[in-house]
Amino acid sequence: SDLASLMNVSVNEVISACMSLGMFVSINQRLDAEAITIIADEFGYDVSFTSTEEETEVIEEEDNPDDLTDRAPIVTIMGHVDHGKTSLLDYIRDANVTAGEAGGITQHIGAYDVETKDGKRIAFLDTPGHEAFTAMRARGAKITDVAIIVVAADDNVMPQTKEAINHAQVAEVPIVIAINKIDKPAANADKIREELANLNILVEDWGGKYQCQEVSAKTGQGIDELLEKVLLEAELLELKANADKKGLGTVVEASLDKGRGYLATLMVQSGKMKIGDVVLAGPHYGKVKAMFDHRGNRLQEVGPSTPVQMLGLDGAPQAGDRFNVMESEREAREIANKREQILREQSVRTKKHITLDEIGRRLAVGNFKELNVIVKGDVDGSIEALSDSLLKLSTEEVQVNIIHKGVGQISESDVLLASASDAIIIGFQVRPSGGARRIAENEEIEIRLYSIIYDAINEIKDAMEGLLEPTE
Ligand code: GDP
Repeated sequence: SDLASLMNVSVNEVISACMSLGMFVSINQRLDAEAITIIADEFGYDVSFTSTEEETEVIEEEDNPDDLTDRAPIVTIMGHVDHGKTSLLDYIRDANVTAGEAGGITQHIGAYDVETKDGKRIAFLDTPGHEAFTAMRARGAKITDVAIIVVAADDNVMPQTKEAINHAQVAEVPIVIAINKIDKPAANADKIREELANLNILVEDWGGKYQCQEVSAKTGQGIDELLEKVLLEAELLELKANADKKGLGTVVEASLDKGRGYLATLMVQSGKMKIGDVVLAGPHYGKVKAMFDHRGNRLQEVGPSTPVQMLGLDGAPQAGDRFNVMESEREAREIANKREQILREQSVRTKKHITLDEIGRRLAVGNFKELNVIVKGDVDGSIEALSDSLLKLSTEEVQVNIIHKGVGQISESDVLLASASDAIIIGFQVRPSGGARRIAENEEIEIRLYSIIYDAINEIKDAMEGLLEPTE
């Protein structure tokens, strides 16, 4: 597909050219240098190779099972606005200060770790909201082990609660429910349990499989128990890491500090990282000049599941970028430069996400099995009707999945979810927000807007039968 668009010919022509050379390829298949040269020649192009993405991959050390030791879980808190995500994060951080680290002033660096009363460590991503979670996932980063879904007991299960649950489920991250604001006179935890049950989230105290804890981020009631449940969920995952190899993990956030240079918060997921190490993070690199925890304490060396703020990179990587401790500065520089180059090239690159036009092509090459759809609409009734009809379009070849549906305009978080799950978005009598439209353009997510259900169904049906007239 990339080659076709570089040569400005259709993918089918490239696939046919491959076939005539005896190569049966799919649309996403990578071709080797020789094949590319021959095929480009058929279309009258000369090839000159620059960096390939493979050259920019860091060969990470394999883990010998004997070297693996337990690591702390990494937790994200999600839920509807004002249900208490920030309060809960703040309470947990402040209530679990170990004697040695008291005194420092809390800095919001995007992540922190605590030690529970029983001496167990938990790392938290301090970027509440599923937008951050899904943005990272859209970039291929997987850092969350357990998601806490907060629901305020004096309110209801809200659209963003549903979204948060949805996002965690799509990412296959186990969920622990925190029913918050239990101190409030209007709190009604059972009503929340019931509303969750209606979403197929049956909590354990009602015989279901989801752990659930009533808490108050104001008084601290239930929070120790909540952390115990998180640890229990984590235990089931048997989280392990090799603490001895060269450190690697994910960038949580990065910024430029006028006085000190680029500051990046990294979540070390495996291995160790110390002062003086050379770190490569996305297209940037540098020597670790200093490391700090969320209280501004200086650190010398850190291991798995540790969030750390580092000083020394030559630029600000993006949240979700992977980082690696490297053998030498030279190697780090070379890869960083190649990544920069590829990023520049990619900005003129092709569609990476599914579109209706693309369905026919992918069907033709036989690697299209599932169509993920997000349905947004103005009223519940039409969303249900549309979703049901779309599901019924599933054929033996292609399964239609409605991965999310809801009332309201198409939001940034819908687009991010679409990007993470390679979905198209269908809006019925609704439009995307300005922000959503911008992200959709950048991420090349297809948004189709309809005002007649029949039109929506027919177009998708045609696309799935490979009958849609290309719009380009
Ligand atoms: P977020 O938008 O989900 O991060 O919610 P916040 O943490 O900002 O909380 C929203 C409001 O609810 C704030 O005014 C908090 O003080 C309040 N709040 C949060 N948790 C509790 C709680 O457990 N009890 C009470 N009474 N108020 C709470």
